[in-house]
Amino acid sequence: MIGQQGVIQMPNNNFFANREGLRAKHVILHGTAGGSSAQNIASYFAQTQGTNNPVSSHYVVGQDGTIVQCVSESDGAWANGILTAGHASFWDTSINPNNTTISIEHVKSATDNSNALTPAQQAASFKLIADICDRWQIPKRAADGSGGITGHFSLDPVNRSNCPGPYNWNALWAYLNGQSTTPPQEENIMIELSTPGVSQFWAPSADGYWRCIAPGHDHRVGGDILSFYKRFGNSGLCGLTYLGLPLTDEFVPKSGTSAQFFEHGVVVRDPNRVIDRPAGLLSTEHCYLAHLDSGFAQVLVSQPLTTPLNGKIKSLEAQLSAAQNTGGDPAEIAALQAQIAAHQATITTLQAQAVASAAKIQQAIALLQK
Ligand SMILES: [Zn+2]
Repeated sequence: MIGQQGVIQMPNNNFFANREGLRAKHVILHGTAGGSSAQNIASYFAQTQGTNNPVSSHYVVGQDGTIVQCVSESDGAWANGILTAGHASFWDTSINPNNTTISIEHVKSATDNSNALTPAQQAASFKLIADICDRWQIPKRAADGSGGITGHFSLDPVNRSNCPGPYNWNALWAYLNGQSTTPPQEENIMIELSTPGVSQFWAPSADGYWRCIAPGHDHRVGGDILSFYKRFGNSGLCGLTYLGLPLTDEFVPKSGTSAQFFEHGVVVRDPNRVIDRPAGLLSTEHCYLAHLDSGFAQVLVSQPLTTPLNGKIKSLEAQLSAAQNTGGDPAEIAALQAQIAAHQATITTLQAQAVASAAKIQQAIALLQK
């Protein structure tokens, strides 16, 4: 197949051979509106061969940055369907656009394509687009009649207005402009269950969750927190390296948020910034690490230590109020007050010094939920 070097090849027969004599001059970006990996999407394309709705694209870019090529760039992949009302005016309605375009699918799990690209996926997509443009002398800019890059929405605004969905076009243009003089972008690292070293600790679970299989850590991680865990740290084994194993399941510290304790930190999922607003947090990032010196994480971590003291304070307060009501000995009253103050000071100290452990946190969450 003519195309990108070093990518996985999973060819299918859903294409117009040799573009029926035409030449590629546009790159069309798509979102898969479902699916989990580039390989799965490529398998799906192959399964549609010979059916009533055979489809394909030249490339599929996975959320982990994996690129699979399914159709040679010299052939016309069946990716773009038909032009519909409201399409960009430069499309020539007398020509099947599949014969003049190179299509790139981006794996997005949401059926409305609402996912942003992962950093690894974006880096792979940008490089692939730049290389395609170089191979076919396609202008590295927004599409017009003479060529360029656009989304499926440009051809089929009736049915594909959200294809590819969120895509960082401004960053793409900046990348393509600087690309002739700037070496390739920084690497973005993301772990998957297939990443060597990960499956010792994690196994797949329902709904795309991971279940920790290490003894004593039988908890699940999913959704935004899993996405955060896969990327956190951007080196080594990301979340497995820097956050470690889960100590709890996901729970709700505050309405509209959730959180999860790991051995090395507490992840908060807070898309609306109800709990905190860390400096520099990207608007597309739903998760961050919890404060340990204040707030729910500090209270939860320290609660197994502070609960007995709070019990003592309650009993001392009862004695104090009894002594005050009966006109008790002023020295006795002062001594009770001093004991209460001392316990309160100890609580403050314990909260500041609290050290997380699985058993303590589990007890604390049980207490919180009572
Ligand atoms: Zn599409």
